[in-house]
Amino acid sequence: METTLIKINSTDETEKLLFAAEILRRGGLVAIPTETVYGLAANALDASAVRGIFRAKGRPADNPLIVHIASFEELGPLVSSVPEKAVKLARAFWPGPLTMVLPKSDLVPGEVTCGLPSVAVRMPSHPIANAVIRAAGAPLAAPSANASGKPSPTAAAHVLHDLSGKIDAVVDGGPCDVGVESTVITLCTEIPTVLRPGGVTVRQLREIIGQVDVHPSVFKELEGGAKPASPGMKYRHYSPSADITVVRGGLDAFAEYVRDHQSASCAVLCFDGEERRFGCETFTYGKKDDPKSQARRLYGALRQIDESDVKRVFARCPDPVAAQAVYNRLLRAAGFKIQILE
Ligand code: AMP
Ligand code: MG
Repeated sequence: METTLIKINSTDETEKLLFAAEILRRGGLVAIPTETVYGLAANALDASAVRGIFRAKGRPADNPLIVHIASFEELGPLVSSVPEKAVKLARAFWPGPLTMVLPKSDLVPGEVTCGLPSVAVRMPSHPIANAVIRAAGAPLAAPSANASGKPSPTAAAHVLHDLSGKIDAVVDGGPCDVGVESTVITLCTEIPTVLRPGGVTVRQLREIIGQVDVHPSVFKELEGGAKPASPGMKYRHYSPSADITVVRGGLDAFAEYVRDHQSASCAVLCFDGEERRFGCETFTYGKKDDPKSQARRLYGALRQIDESDVKRVFARCPDPVAAQAVYNRLLRAAGFKIQILE
């Protein structure tokens, strides 16, 4: 299969949008830009198209997909009820990087939810994502558009690197603004629970609906037999080719740690402007006190590391509270290996 690259700069490019939508209506697979990461979309109501997503990505069959909608009215038919808290959260954060897990309706094929009685739904804010959903005339199931086991793609080139020849098309809408996946919150538990941190913070959620729990799997590797509330949490998401250790501490202590543990083919993943502190190869992922820039750059940096010959990486630690989503993703990339210097 040849993968068509469709460059779309604005939602005025109706012909190109209709071209992408037509592929989706026929049951094809199209990667689309969203504000979080690129998504690999298929018509969520077409079970056979949805099976294609799992095939193209090599995605484990028990890792359910997020359904993307373009207006609040599209939520009702997908779920068996819309609790008051969902209405409040939608009002506050949709369109945007928040996914809500709700009890599913019969309309949603089991292929989307991997047999779970709940469905994850999100309304992206990216104008091109929104326009493609509307043009397709159906909700779109869309996990991240990477090959399973690779970092999520934050640029069309990342999608092509992983999936060229396996999907019908990629809509190139430029780099993603948020850069990490959406926050996932389940409203199926008595106390709403964050299953995955993302662009919307736990504090922001609490401001709108009060008590919110954070699932323990967010910051800890699940114990052998533990049942994940969010199936995706049991996967390491991504096994980098290099062995990564997150090293938490000030820049001076970090630099000293690197000096003491340095070996051939090792590198540092640091913040912008810190490169000259180290006598080895460096990769950067944003500004030190700017979680947004870190989120935008992390996955690209991990892909650069994968493409280098580096075998061992010491990574500067993002702020675990202010940059919760980045911390969570980096910790997972490191297989939860962290060295605390203070
Ligand atoms: P991705 O779109 O690749 O970021 O993956 C979507 C993630 O959303 C999955 O890995 C799950 O962890 C989570 N998810 C999707 N549907 C559900 C659901 N019904 N219940 C809990 N978590 C879900
Ligand atoms: Mg993913």
